[in-house]
Amino acid sequence: MVSRVIPVQPFDLVIFGGTGDLARRKILPALFRRFCAGQMAEDARVIGAARGDMNAAGYRGFARDAITEFDGDITMMEAHLARFLEQVDYVTLDAAGDVGWPELAAKLTGADHTRAFYFSVGPALFGPLATRLYDHGLASPGCRIVVEKPFGRDLASARKLNAVLAEHFDETQIYRIDHYLGKETVQNLMAIRFANTLFEPLWNSQYVDHMQITVAESGGVGTRGGYYDKSGAMRDMMQNHIMQLLCLTAMEPPAKYDPDSVRDEKLKVIRALDPVEPGDVVRGQYESTDTLPGYRNEVENRDTTTESFVALKARIGNWRWAGTPFYLRTGKRLRARASEIAVVFKDAPHSIFGADAGRHRNILTIRLQPNEGIEMGVTIKEPGPGGMRLVDVPLDMTFSEALGPQSEDIPDAYERLIMDVIRGDQTLFMRGDEVEAAWAWTDPIIEGWEAAGTQPELYSTGSSGPDDALALIHRDGRRWREIKP
Ligand code: NAP
Repeated sequence: MVSRVIPVQPFDLVIFGGTGDLARRKILPALFRRFCAGQMAEDARVIGAARGDMNAAGYRGFARDAITEFDGDITMMEAHLARFLEQVDYVTLDAAGDVGWPELAAKLTGADHTRAFYFSVGPALFGPLATRLYDHGLASPGCRIVVEKPFGRDLASARKLNAVLAEHFDETQIYRIDHYLGKETVQNLMAIRFANTLFEPLWNSQYVDHMQITVAESGGVGTRGGYYDKSGAMRDMMQNHIMQLLCLTAMEPPAKYDPDSVRDEKLKVIRALDPVEPGDVVRGQYESTDTLPGYRNEVENRDTTTESFVALKARIGNWRWAGTPFYLRTGKRLRARASEIAVVFKDAPHSIFGADAGRHRNILTIRLQPNEGIEMGVTIKEPGPGGMRLVDVPLDMTFSEALGPQSEDIPDAYERLIMDVIRGDQTLFMRGDEVEAAWAWTDPIIEGWEAAGTQPELYSTGSSGPDDALALIHRDGRRWREIKP
């Protein structure tokens, strides 16, 4: 099976922050891969913009290095790379000043090119960029802006940012990126739920005992300590990525797969979330080991109370989910880098096999990383003559095995999302009201911590998080799924 690539219309994509880490590691390699796949028109153009004094040739060298470093062996694609780089340009520009704007305007092509501006700069520059695009006459009605995370650090700042963007851009022009939504498995979650008759009738509190969403990382904050310590796990992961996964898992079927139908349903989930009780949330910080520094040694403030781990029990107050808790957790320096959504079904209503059967449950696991795929745990008879003993076995579909060579063509999240921007498809981007609703839910939790002045609980590197996080679910007679590579 060979995947079909539909070329997108010619475009001018300006990457503000074109010399930054995100451009180097993700955006430029993603564009190159789409170029190799034949999706970028020959006259499409990528223009890096930053304050650094560099000419086009210098930026092409930067892009070449980035692609070579993050795209593995490109010797087979050297000819492609040379052609791709011909479409790359650079302008020295200050997002918060006047330098470079006329030069940028002169480089942009006419109305036959879709115009997209990628805000890959620090969040303090999102507002100034929007204003300058408008002031310099570049905010044309058909253009798009792509806004990176973090989108605010609380409801007030998110509202303010939405208002600044709305002064110059219509909501249909604003693409708030959450790269989790570009992951193949996350989109597959919708396919699994709404393209199969098998699951949807069971997808409610009558049959689902509880859900677990885990985004576990094995690494620490490393060089990102400065940024991370100002946000923490709640702002950096829970409010956006995990919230989006929760929405797609819990939402009602949208009438259509189109941006507003999907985003309306997601918004309803966030608005239906009950406030989290203080006893239903646990935060933690990783301790040092003999060889690795602890969280407090990796950030500047040695007395920091920022959390590197958070676990909580969420409840959705609607007909579908009343009584079914959603246990959410994320953290750094945990046992493995593993992200999954687990749907844990209730026990069969009556066991004809005696007491033994009660210990078995169907669990549908959607693995986001590693080994993107789906696994359904089913209970069968243990083989052999020893009577009717039951055993749980996985019905496993790892995409790379099931789809064969085609799976190697699966674009990474940034490839998919950047092409969606050019196509004008906002389905996998967050709408302004969604972001605000998510902050409205997380703000009281963070404010509660700040008011209480409590310390996060320490946890060991390579563990599953703090003991209280285990207790959070144990006291409900349930257990977390093992975090395994
Ligand atoms: P970075 O490495 O610090 O790069 C910042 C870029 O912005 C540089 O190219 C810098 O170049 C440019 N810049 C700074 N001030 C500027 C100004 N006044 N005018 C024009 N350009 C300016 O940051 P990053 O890690 O790439 O992150 C960029 C954005 O993506 C941030 O909002 C971040 O939160 C978000 N993000 C990053 C990652 C990641 O993995 N890196 C992941 C998710 C989200 P000059 O200094 O030469 O101007």
